[in-house]
Amino acid sequence: MQAATAGRQAALEDLRTRARALGVALEPAAAAQLLRLLDELRQWNRAYNLTAITAPAAMVGAHLLDSLAASGALEGMRIADLGTGAGFPGLPLAIVHPDRHFTLIDGTAKKVRFVAHAARTLGLSNVAAVHARAEELRPAQAFDTIVARAVGSLTELATLARPLARPGTLLLAYKGQRPDAELAALPVDWKLLGVRELEVPGLGAERSLVSLEFRPGPAGA
Ligand code: SAH
Repeated sequence: MQAATAGRQAALEDLRTRARALGVALEPAAAAQLLRLLDELRQWNRAYNLTAITAPAAMVGAHLLDSLAASGALEGMRIADLGTGAGFPGLPLAIVHPDRHFTLIDGTAKKVRFVAHAARTLGLSNVAAVHARAEELRPAQAFDTIVARAVGSLTELATLARPLARPGTLLLAYKGQRPDAELAALPVDWKLLGVRELEVPGLGAERSLVSLEFRPGPAGA
């Protein structure tokens, strides 16, 4: 028991140190919630096969730190995570931004069930889990920022994101190495704001963040 508690404390401090290297200051309570999220994911994964990455250190890098890498880039109060899967990047972002509201969308029921369970268990009142295909959604109010990780090409993502956006909506796409070919084929109603290379501590993979702004033409979109 004592050893388990000491191990938990070390994991918590390690997470906070690595988040700091990303420019994210984690309160101890938020770090504890993030580790609890991984516990829940590991537990549900036994029955539902939600993630292929299950080694504790790898989960911290791939699920928590990678998700938090765009933390400083969010704009506005209404955030959508399109194709959230088991809640990434949406759940870690919602934990560190309790003042913003997050709508986590996925077309696969078992993943959305996990997201709803995790939000309930962690007491995240700023998270809504929505089971839907993005192309079927017509939100009453558009989102300020849409985040997405590992959801199609930039062209596919930009097309899916259109009904969730208003002029000025920011789309943040988590990518591997700089996706030059995809950038060359962007739909005209999304303007490229920039591509930032991300250093995710301990991940050992090339990561980049593509920022796009929705600028529909005069004919509308
Ligand atoms: N973002 C998560 C999951 C990536 S896998 C992560 O990085 O871990 C891609 C996810 O997008 C899958 O869970 C799939 O169900 C979802 N998805 C793909 N197309 C979608 C669509 N049109 N609408 C809603 N969800 C979609």
